Formats: sequence, structure tokens, C-alpha cells
Amino acid sequence: MTAAAAAPVIVAGGGIGGLAAALALAQRGFRVRVLEQAAEIGEIGAGVQLAPNAFAAFDALGVGQQARGRAVYTDRLVMMDAVDESIVAEVPTGDTFRARFGNPYAVIHRADVHLSLLEGVRAQPGVELRTSTRIVGFEPADDGGVVVFDAEGGSHRGLALVGCDGVKSAVRAQTVGDDVRVSGHVVYRAVVDVADFPADLRWNAAAVWAGPNCHLVHYPLRGGDQYNVVVTFHSRDAETWSVSEGSQTEVLSYFDGIAARPRRLLQLPKSWKRWATADRTPIAHWTHGRSTLLGDAAHPLLQYLAQGACMAIEDAVTLGRALAACDDDIDAAFALYQRSRVARTARVVLMTREMGRIYHAHGIERLVRNELWRGRSAERFYDALEWLYGWTAERCLAS
Ligand SMILES: Cc1cc2nc3c(=O)[nH]c(=O)nc-3n(C[C@H](O)[C@H](O)[C@H](O)COP(=O)(O)OP(=O)(O)OC[C@H]3O[C@@H](n4cnc5c(N)ncnc54)[C@H](O)[C@@H]3O)c2cc1C
Repeated sequence: MTAAAAAPVIVAGGGIGGLAAALALAQRGFRVRVLEQAAEIGEIGAGVQLAPNAFAAFDALGVGQQARGRAVYTDRLVMMDAVDESIVAEVPTGDTFRARFGNPYAVIHRADVHLSLLEGVRAQPGVELRTSTRIVGFEPADDGGVVVFDAEGGSHRGLALVGCDGVKSAVRAQTVGDDVRVSGHVVYRAVVDVADFPADLRWNAAAVWAGPNCHLVHYPLRGGDQYNVVVTFHSRDAETWSVSEGSQTEVLSYFDGIAARPRRLLQLPKSWKRWATADRTPIAHWTHGRSTLLGDAAHPLLQYLAQGACMAIEDAVTLGRALAACDDDIDAAFALYQRSRVARTARVVLMTREMGRIYHAHGIERLVRNELWRGRSAERFYDALEWLYGWTAERCLAS
């Protein structure tokens, strides 16, 4: 039986990872059913940074042009010291950067990333998107595939299951256990119209203001008509992983000890969304029988390297390439996919934790950070980022 005639591959979750996975599977000729718990397929109103590796992955999925057309290309990444307003580090992202990594660095609205993938998915007749369908578990089927159960009592027979259901993945909870590590770091996010954004901060840059136990980020979106504002602090309360409405009173009660210029960012948004973040100590086994994991479900991570979505898209490309390399034998391909992704994504998870510590350094650690990075050349930063930004679809499979 051809892949197209067989039962669909079930994809749990229709976020960036789920849509990218659906696209990669459909391009191999598989039928795909995406089961999404939300009433609509969509993304939250916030921005996302896309490093060159994300564009390499978009291109491999055939949606690179769509994503490029909606992105803002930054001139630089810059880290400011939020206490004394000095520049700690600058990484130019112009022509030399692009030549080095083969792709640009960009910032983009999440809805536009999602839309680029959705357009690709919609061009594939074999992909079915089902909303308001929350997966609660699955079991092996007698024909070697899987039966996936949803919260309404429905069941879905599939050739295989790819869990793209995010940080609190139901698929991961069943196969390896949940075990997320709530960081205690809380993120507030908002998008601000350019008219309300201070003229002296309208930089064409992904900017980080690093402060004691906190940091603030801003970058342009949608041709500079909007600015993304993201601020993070160490909560004084016990947190559980959650997304909720933010409170201006709460956000203003943090960020002691930072200078007036970055502090102004806290006053700009008319409303905020609040994330109590979590990651997970990396796991080596994503594949269990005919199920595997992808994106945040496989490797939940914090946001400090701005790589979670980039990794999810890389995962999807690698899954597609593994299927191609294994002549669409799912068992062999899931094993190859896992072998190709575990070490790289674990490195990103662990480096991200370290980057959070660097961003939030205080006292003597802050001075050490500034001493280490200040005046460092672009070339040295590029060398340090090669392992991350230099990813290509052509070299994504383990030997
Ligand atoms: C503050 C912040 C800033 C970030 N900035 C960046 C950045 O600049 N660059 C970057 O690359 N990454 C960034 N990330 C990370 C990025 O957002 C995530 O890594 C990425 O969205 C993961 O995509 P995903 O599809 O794996 O998971 P998700 O986006 O969480 O999607 C999971 C989907 O599955 C659905 N779902 C969940 N459970 C079920 C279920 N049981 N049944 C059915 N459906 C289910 C959900 O509704 C959702 O649609 C950031 C994250 C945060 C928190």
C-alpha cells in the first residue's frame, strides 16, 4: 500500500512544530491528521526571533519565501547593561553575517510564522486539520499503528503518532513522564504600536537589556509598525507552568535597580500576557514504538537563546529527511530522527539555561560578564554561534 492510501500519521498539536511536521510528512506522501485542542489553529499575539537555521529549515519545507516576505531583518543583536545603560555586546547581522551563515537574522510576528506554515499545509491535499480535539492518550493498534484517544471520547487510527503538543505534552507524559522544571522565571509579553514606542529605542535590532535577576527585550515587527516587548523577572512566588493575563501592578513591582530608559518599557503596553516558564532536563528517548516527539514536546526549553521555534522547525525537516533516507519505513525513520536530534536539542536546552544566568547576572557576576563580552569582535561571536546558526538540512541526519 502506498503512504497516501494508508491510514494518516496523527500529529498532536497544531502549533509551529505541528504544522511544520504535517508539512514534512505530507511532502513524503503521507496522509496527515493534525489534532489541535484549541478551537482555532493560530498563534499568540507576540513576536519571535528567527535565526539563520530557521530560514534554512523553512527553505527545506518550501515556505522560505513566505516567511522571508513577512519578516523584519535586523542590523544587529545587542545586549545592553540595564543598570548603567552601557553596551555589553553587539553582533552585526548584515551582509557579513548572512554570508557567513547563508541566511539572515530576522524578527517576525508569530501569526506570520504560523501563516507561512499554514499556507504550505493547505497546499497539501493530504493534510486534515481538526480543531477542538484534545488528545488524552494512545495505545498500539493490532495492525502495528496507533489508536489515539481524544477528550470527547473519539478515537483516531493512525500509522504513527508525532507528539507536537508543547511543554505539557500528553504524548510525552504517557511515554517518558512529564517532569517539567518550573523555572520561577516569569515572562510578560506585549506588542506596542510604533507611535507609542520611544523614538530613541526604535532600533532595527533584537535588543536585550540585561539586569539583576531580570531582562527586557524589544524588537520591531511588521515593517516597524509595531514593537515586541518582552520582560522577564524572577518571581517571588511559587509558580506553576501557566499562561494568563498579566497585571501591570505585578510587573511594576519588579525591575528594581535598572535605569530609567529600559524601565520605560514597562509602562508602554496597554495589556500584557504572562508566562510562568518551564523547561525539562533533556531526555534521550523520544521514540516509543510508533510514537515520537517534536518541538517543545520533545525538548521543552526556556526562551533565552530564542531558539525553541527554530528547533521545532529543524525537528520537522529532520523527520522528513529521515523518512526519505529510510524509504518511508516509519520505525527506522523514527529511530534515525531521534538519533539525529537528541544531542543538538539537548545542547540548546542546556546552553539556554546558561544564557539565562548570563542575562540575569548581578553583583560580581555582572561585572565578569561585561568584562568578558565587551569589545568582543563580530568574528568571535560568529565563531561561537557557528554550531547553532550553521545548521543545514543537507547535513541534518546522523551518520
Ligand atoms: C517568552 C518566549 C519567547 C520565545 N521567543 C522565541 C524566539 O524568539 N525564537 C524561537 O525560536 N522560539 C522562541 N520561543 C519558543 C517557541 O515559542 C516555542 O519553542 C515554540 O512555539 C514551540 O512550538 P511547538 O509547536 O513545539 O509548541 P507549542 O507552540 O506549544 O504548540 C503546541 C500546540 O499543541 C496544542 N496542544 C497542547 N496539548 C494538546 C493536546 N493534549 N491535544 C491536542 N493539542 C494540544 C496547543 O494548543 C498548541 O497549539 C519563545 C518562547 C517563550 C515562552
